[in-house]
Amino acid sequence: MKKYNISYNIIMLLISFIFIISFLLLYILINHKIVNPYIPTNYEKLNNEIIELSDEYSEVIELSIIGKSQQDRNLYLIKLGKGQQKVLFTGATHGTEYITSAYLLKMTEEYARCYISEQKFGGRNVKQLLDNATIYIVPMINPDGVEMALNYHINWRANANGVNLNQNFPTNRWDDIDTGIYQPDINGFRGYSPASEPESKALIDLCENYNFKFMLSFHAKGEVLYWTDDNTGIVPGSIKLMKIIEKSTGYKPMESTDNVNSYAGGFENWFRYKYNRPGICIELTPSNDSKDPHNDKYFNSLVWDKAKYLGLDVISDNFL
Ligand SMILES: [Zn+2]
Repeated sequence: MKKYNISYNIIMLLISFIFIISFLLLYILINHKIVNPYIPTNYEKLNNEIIELSDEYSEVIELSIIGKSQQDRNLYLIKLGKGQQKVLFTGATHGTEYITSAYLLKMTEEYARCYISEQKFGGRNVKQLLDNATIYIVPMINPDGVEMALNYHINWRANANGVNLNQNFPTNRWDDIDTGIYQPDINGFRGYSPASEPESKALIDLCENYNFKFMLSFHAKGEVLYWTDDNTGIVPGSIKLMKIIEKSTGYKPMESTDNVNSYAGGFENWFRYKYNRPGICIELTPSNDSKDPHNDKYFNSLVWDKAKYLGLDVISDNFL
């Protein structure tokens, strides 16, 4: 009788142990995250995460390459969704702003996970939204600049040629840009000619090949929206889009400016000029007195807490 009790207890102990281990493994599996936005997103990390994301969520993510940077790094394009309406998000135009890449990758993972599992995200029906619209994401348009900022000079904003990509786009006022910088620089100059850089050319080609309804270019810092300028005026749909973003994030819309240096070569300014459709520059993260990148450890309070629904909210309206 005593022997039986010992065997019985051992079996029960084993069953409990197996049950606990299974539960833990299931918990880890469900909560496993590919994207880690709490450390700096360099090119290698982006490369690894983006490939893992497209493998894990192949039902809703397609990965392609739209070009190469000056130093031969891939310029990735993530296609997220299956809808007819196409919109474009871009990040890391400036080397110091790699937190915008982390933001776009985190957004991709969370939305893809909810799409596959048919879960809502903050009450938003992700499956329905991404069956209606497709978000095209270029998470890091300036990988060389990001590597320079992380490995060479903390304030490096330009591409590898020392050009500020957001002054390199061929608007009608490009010739009027005069920042006082006429040669390669860590902050960048406008370039020797409009669209001289492989990164800006890749974005221009992308826009020419897709009928994007609008584009959002993510930068840092300021928590503000640059949605209009004195050159293009207010393009159709831009007030509505600006208000949706303001409501979703709390970021402040800025007044139109007559400063030609701020609008004559920007990607969003060019998009508005070229297509007469909304193009908005979104400055994520709070401003501070420093030009240095923020500490990624605080990604949630810096970016995610305010901007996590933005990608869904902008495709939720029929103004598309
Ligand atoms: Zn920027």
